[in-house]
Amino acid sequence: MTANAPITQDVLTLPRKLPEGGKRSLVGLTRAQMAEALAQIGTPERQAKMRVGQIWQWVYHWGVQDFASMTNLAKGYRDQLDAAFTLDRPEIVSRQVSEDGTRKYLLRIAGGHEVEAVYIPEENRGTLCVSSQVGCTLTCSFCHTGTQKLVRNLTAAEIVGQVLVARDDLGEWPEPGAPKNETRLVSNVVLMGMGEPLYNFDNVRDAMKVVMDGEGLSISRRRITLSTSGVVPEIARTAEEIGCLLAISFHATTDEVRDKLVPINKRWNIKTLLDVLRDYPRISNSERITFEYVMLKDVNDSDADARRLVRLIAGIPAKINLIPFNEWPGAPYQRSDWARIESFADIVHKAGYASPIRTPRGEDIMAACGQLKSATERGRQSRAEIAAQTGA
Ligand code: SAH
Ligand code: SF4
Repeated sequence: MTANAPITQDVLTLPRKLPEGGKRSLVGLTRAQMAEALAQIGTPERQAKMRVGQIWQWVYHWGVQDFASMTNLAKGYRDQLDAAFTLDRPEIVSRQVSEDGTRKYLLRIAGGHEVEAVYIPEENRGTLCVSSQVGCTLTCSFCHTGTQKLVRNLTAAEIVGQVLVARDDLGEWPEPGAPKNETRLVSNVVLMGMGEPLYNFDNVRDAMKVVMDGEGLSISRRRITLSTSGVVPEIARTAEEIGCLLAISFHATTDEVRDKLVPINKRWNIKTLLDVLRDYPRISNSERITFEYVMLKDVNDSDADARRLVRLIAGIPAKINLIPFNEWPGAPYQRSDWARIESFADIVHKAGYASPIRTPRGEDIMAACGQLKSATERGRQSRAEIAAQTGA
């Protein structure tokens, strides 16, 4: 199949690029880390800051992928950079485009592992959903990624690399001399792909610092949303050290049900989670927290659940994102009926909270929330095997 085939789903398989062995990537380093890396190849300390500024602009403003294009650096210095460092992005193994315009990228990273990133175009914005881990250590029972054991954390380079790859593919880098384009294709980033971002805190934080940097990708912290299943000890740090918007995979209104759906609840229960959330908006200076709530038929979708939900979150500035369950092969749940979802939304709305129902995007290419799972690791372990290992 080719990118132009008149079908609902196109699959593009791109030529492979061999990874360059041994070289350190400059992508994903903070400015301080990059200065240090440059010092290690002999860049005089007094020049390092300026060099970082120059390289930063090339990589994150102009999107160049090789040192040879950095024409404001001396030829000898470019060669030196090229000998020591790489600017490689994760390799695109395949790209699928949904009939609704959603693009799903399957990316190969060092070690031959694969992760997915999803681009979701909307009328007034474009959101890139990025992964933070290969697989996930957690085993939420409704999530496809949760059936895949954790393989490893992504590096900051690999997280930033997902943004670079999407901009490459969308042709979003500016042309020199062209008028500034105010409409951004990748205007928002959500950490809602594979993995639990707060179990890879340092790399996620460093990557987001790069993504937010005003002289590069320049995506404001208010356009970045980190979604967590509820790693309580890292939530205050997220407010302090990243300052982005927060989404919580809440999904249930009693500990009994949440223990089953989001097993991390056995470690940090609903009350403990809500207590720490009350401080988030103030510390991060953000307006409100998004509560994600997956609608599972006859499991968590009753009117009583809706009423309990609004009682629980009373006092927290919040928006409730209702997510119709996205099915995957072998999933043990069904999506709630539409009328049920609307009735739930209505109760939440009448209590004074925005309660949008998230339209599933990219369903035809399995790109919707919770459907991501990389083929290389697919089927490696059954849920029973994971449970036996984790004692869940
Ligand atoms: N690990 C993080 C972020 C990734 S999941 C977290 O759990 O928050 C992104 C969102 O999709 C979460 O709210 C998750 O609970 C939800 N999700 C997972 N599987 C889903 C499915 N099959 N249908 C709908 N939403 C799902
Ligand atoms: Fe991991 Fe999030 Fe899926 Fe839970 S919902 S298994 S935390 S990716």
